[in-house]
Amino acid sequence: MLLRDVPKLAVIVPCYNEELCVRRTAEKLLEVINTLVSKNKILSDSYVYFIDDGSADKTWEIIEELHKSNPLIKGTKFVRNFGNQRALMAGLESVREIGCDCVVSIDADLQQDEWAIEKFLDEYMKGYDIVLGIRNNRKTDTFFKKFTAEMFYKTMKFLGANIPMNHSDYRLVSKRTLDLMSIYPEKLFFLRGFFNEIGLPTTYVNFDVKQRMAGESKFNFQSLMALALNGITSYSVVPLRFVAVLGFFMALFGFAVGIETVIEKLFWHNSPNGWATNIIVMCAFGGIQLFCLGIIGEYVGQLYREVKARPRYIKDVELR
Ligand code: UDP
Ligand code: MG
Repeated sequence: MLLRDVPKLAVIVPCYNEELCVRRTAEKLLEVINTLVSKNKILSDSYVYFIDDGSADKTWEIIEELHKSNPLIKGTKFVRNFGNQRALMAGLESVREIGCDCVVSIDADLQQDEWAIEKFLDEYMKGYDIVLGIRNNRKTDTFFKKFTAEMFYKTMKFLGANIPMNHSDYRLVSKRTLDLMSIYPEKLFFLRGFFNEIGLPTTYVNFDVKQRMAGESKFNFQSLMALALNGITSYSVVPLRFVAVLGFFMALFGFAVGIETVIEKLFWHNSPNGWATNIIVMCAFGGIQLFCLGIIGEYVGQLYREVKARPRYIKDVELR
């Protein structure tokens, strides 16, 4: 594998109402950067880039203040909340413009062990373009989150999009990966799927998950569901095929039942008194049809949003 020069590292941090965390997070990340600089593992102009995803609290004021005292803290503020995936996208695109050799994305609550960045860099130096952080366990998650996450990974696997289990947007990617990303025109990136399918040399690093430093999780059932549906509709058309195949077999079944009914009528003359059967079949078929329409609707919605091609995010201010 190729030998690499000591890289300039950028660390991107999406923040949504994280006033209780950002200051401490900046301190800790700078500590990591300083340590790595002193070990000669990264260049001294390596920096942290915060993306304020339209916070309503003091997050941005704190970032501005941090930037004033140390220009290695940079950042941008969105005009409104665009969601974690778009904040990450903005981070990746911005640091590509500002300049870096590799970039690590990490959550503002530092639930992910920030010292794993050193291991990420070691893998990068071996020649890997994508280093995915894999959490050792889900101890800090609620039962509900564990369960839904597992369901999601299993569904994705079943649908043919093999996303690494327990990887949650804590990763390092190289400049080369960022360059490739810029030629993908899609607006609704599902980053975990994207980095998996791009096909560059990829490796994994395990890390420990901690409790959220302060504040509360910014994800609720609705936003997790939206993330999961975006992941599925971005990376698999298997549900659409499933609808087609199901439709075919149901038609076949209907045809057989039709023949049977005609034969009964013509030869046995016993018109049935199957009221219950009728209701059951009607409800079942009605339900299945609506469900299938819903699946198709999800894809139409994805198409609709992609075709409109609205900007992924809008920056209000940027500190470089
Ligand atoms: N986040 C964001 N925009 C949002 C929701 C979350 O930028 O609309 C950020 C949040 O500030 C944090 C990261 O995404 O840095 C992960 O969110 P959180 O820690 O709340 O998620 P959890 O760890 O509970 O899955
Ligand atoms: Mg968190």
